Amino acid sequence: MKDFSALSDYIIRIRRIIHKRPELSGIEFLTQTLVKKELEQMQIPYRTLHETDVIAEITGTRTNGLNQTVLLRADMDALPLTEKTNTEYASECPGVMHACGHDSHTAMLLGAAKLLSECRDIFSGTIRLVFQPAEETGGETQKLIENGMLDGVNTVFAIHVAPDIPSGKINIQPGPCMAGVDDFSIRITGTGSHGATPHLGSDALLTGAHLAVNLQQVISREIDPQEPAVLTIGIFQSGTKINLLAQEAVLSGNIRFFKKELSGYFCEALTRYSNHTAAMFRCSSFVTYTPSLLPTVNAPGCCIIAKAAALAVWGKDNLMERPASMASEDFSRYLNTVPGVMIFLGTNDGTKRTSWPLHHECFDLDESVLVNGSRLYVNYALEWLSGKFAIL
Ligand SMILES: [Zn+2]
Ligand SMILES: [Zn+2]
Repeated sequence: MKDFSALSDYIIRIRRIIHKRPELSGIEFLTQTLVKKELEQMQIPYRTLHETDVIAEITGTRTNGLNQTVLLRADMDALPLTEKTNTEYASECPGVMHACGHDSHTAMLLGAAKLLSECRDIFSGTIRLVFQPAEETGGETQKLIENGMLDGVNTVFAIHVAPDIPSGKINIQPGPCMAGVDDFSIRITGTGSHGATPHLGSDALLTGAHLAVNLQQVISREIDPQEPAVLTIGIFQSGTKINLLAQEAVLSGNIRFFKKELSGYFCEALTRYSNHTAAMFRCSSFVTYTPSLLPTVNAPGCCIIAKAAALAVWGKDNLMERPASMASEDFSRYLNTVPGVMIFLGTNDGTKRTSWPLHHECFDLDESVLVNGSRLYVNYALEWLSGKFAIL
């Protein structure tokens, strides 16, 4: 059995460097520089398709294979949070923190690059490594796809760390594993009046309050109850003074779902509820509805390959069932173009430190599992390029 302890030390060292100096979506310049420097040391060529991304490519030297291209993806951005972990590698940037584990994704993919750079002679075909910016805001992926990121790619693979899964376990789920999301914003317009004479105006705030309640019925009465969906209003802004009827109210939120066909589906119902509720109170409404991300859907055939890759890493079945998450991921943009899979790697070693959820200011992870994440990236690519799996 090969000794991976030096590789593990490398991954943890890189993860801590990135963790200490997190960067927000779209401005991952230091992280990009670090990734480029590491790739140069491994003599792996790379290019940049837009601004802060790095796209590297490793070509195998064997000639008797399928000559396909496998894309392995890691995201690099952090979140606008102030870290409260008190670890020696805690963020040195107040208000910015790697609370979604993207530091570890980048470190794992660099670990995979290191492994691959040392074994070019055992595969044929190309392995494209994508260090992707701005996952949290979803602002870059579409541009990267337009600029050719997925050109010639036969399959895509990504890992996300998961604090709700014990260390050493992984989740590989065929079908939807994360939700799609449509965003909306509704502007209610009324007529201002003194609070002493409400009959002379029309109250946008009161209308908005009724609408916030009414909109919940869109989920309970407009789709099959067997179909999971959730509507959340996260912003409700209205009013300027305690004794005035508000002239305007704005409600913003989103709807999450697992079925691709539901993207855009709720626009008509939201508009109908908004118009009728506003009319009831002599107000008017204007709805902005934007399908944001499709669900993240794993191709069943790719899951079989990922399971074989996991078996090669752990030497035994370490899969764990887990309900799909209602959160969303911009890896869905990859998966809606090319078949592939996103898997979840357990990082909870049973201590309080590694039990905090993603996006929490105390989030941290069991770094000892990351080396197996790197091996999983590599093994997925090698399994695919071996051509053993005809089913997709
Ligand atoms: Zn996140
Ligand atoms: Zn994430």
